[in-house]
Amino acid sequence: MSLRVGVVGCGAIGSDHIRRIMNDLSGAEVVAVSDLYRSNAEKSARLYPCKVFETGEELISSHDVEAVIVTTTGATHKQYVMATIKAGKPVFCEKPLATTAADSLEIVEAEVKSGKHLVQVGFMRRYDKGYQQLKTAIDNDTIGLPLLLHCTHRNPAVDKNYTTDMAITDTAIHEIDALHWLLNDEYESVQVLFPRKSRNSHDKLQDPQIVIFTTKTGVIAELEINVNCQFGYDIQCQVVGECGTAALPDPSNLSIRKDAKRYIELLTNWKDRFMNAYDTEIQQWINTTFHGTVEGPTAWDGYVAAVTADACVKAQHTGQIEKIDFGLKPAFYGN
Ligand code: NAP
Repeated sequence: MSLRVGVVGCGAIGSDHIRRIMNDLSGAEVVAVSDLYRSNAEKSARLYPCKVFETGEELISSHDVEAVIVTTTGATHKQYVMATIKAGKPVFCEKPLATTAADSLEIVEAEVKSGKHLVQVGFMRRYDKGYQQLKTAIDNDTIGLPLLLHCTHRNPAVDKNYTTDMAITDTAIHEIDALHWLLNDEYESVQVLFPRKSRNSHDKLQDPQIVIFTTKTGVIAELEINVNCQFGYDIQCQVVGECGTAALPDPSNLSIRKDAKRYIELLTNWKDRFMNAYDTEIQQWINTTFHGTVEGPTAWDGYVAAVTADACVKAQHTGQIEKIDFGLKPAFYGN
C-alpha cells in the first residue's frame, strides 16, 4: 500500500520532492499536482503521470489525496496548510510555515483545535547525518555540557534581489531551527553585528553578519552569515563543551595532489550539500504519516523559528540585544 500524496507548487523544490518520491523513496506515490502556473504542474504530470488540479484547495479536498506537500512560495503556505488541517489530512510544508509569527501561531492554534498532529515543517538539517552525530554527542554527554557554538553559513554569491533581512529569513532560518534542536534548549535573546562590509556585496545587502544567540541555559551560539564568500557553500558548526569539542564533519570529497599542491574540491550549492538529508526527511515523513504521527519539526517549531527570525531582523535594525519570547508551548506538542 502506497501513501497517495498531492503536491501543491511544482517549482524547484516541489519538482525535486516529486522526483525523489517517485524514483528514490518507498511507500508513497504522487497522485496529484497543482501550481499557480499550470504548465509547471503539467510538466511534472508528464514526467510522473498524475492528476493536475486547477487550485491547491481542490487538490487538498480530493478523495484521491491522503497527504499533502506544500512547496509554493512562502507567502502562500498558510492558506494551503490551513486548508489541509481543515480537511483533517497530514501536511508537509516547506519552510517557512508562514511568513509572519502571527500567521504561524494561527496554524498552531488550528492544529491544536483539530486535536490531531498533522503538520511537519521542512527543516531538513535535522536529517543530515553530521547534525545527527553532533546531536548524539551532545545527548550522550560526550563533551560535557555545551557552553558555546561557532557556526558558519557561507554561500558563494547572491543576486541583487537578496537583501539584508533575507540573511535571516532565508539563510539563518536553517540554523535558527537546527541549533535549539541540537541543544534541547530555547532561545532567550539575540544580537546582530555587522563587520566591515564585503566589496562583493551590493547596496541593499550588509554582508557578512554575525548573529549571536543566547539560550535560556546560558549557551552562546555565534553564527557567521557570509553569502558572498566566493569560494563555496560552507556550513560549519562546532560545539564547545566542558571537556571537549565536537564539530560537524565536512562533506567528504576527493583529495587531489597535483602541481605540488594538495586540494579538496568544495561544494558550491545547498542542494548537493543536503541531498541525503532531503531524502531521509521525506522518507521519514512518509513512514510516520502512515502511522498517523509527526516526528519531525512541528508547527510549533515553525512558529518558534518565525518569532526568532523577527527578533533577529529587529536586532539588525536596533543593534541591541533583543528578547525572544514565544510564550508557553501548548501541552499538545509535548516537552
Ligand atoms: P519556486 O521554484 O519559485 O517554486 C514555487 C512554485 O509554487 C512555483 O511554481 C510557483 O508558481 C508556485 N506557486 C506560487 N504561488 C502559488 C499558489 N498560490 N498556488 C499554487 N502554486 C503557487 O520556489 P522554490 O525554490 O521551489 O521554493 C518553494 C518553497 O520551498 C519556498 O518556501 C522556499 O523557502 C522553500 N525551500 C526550502 C528549501 C529547504 O532547504 N528546506 C530549499 C528550497 C526552497 P509561479 O512560478 O507561477 O510563481
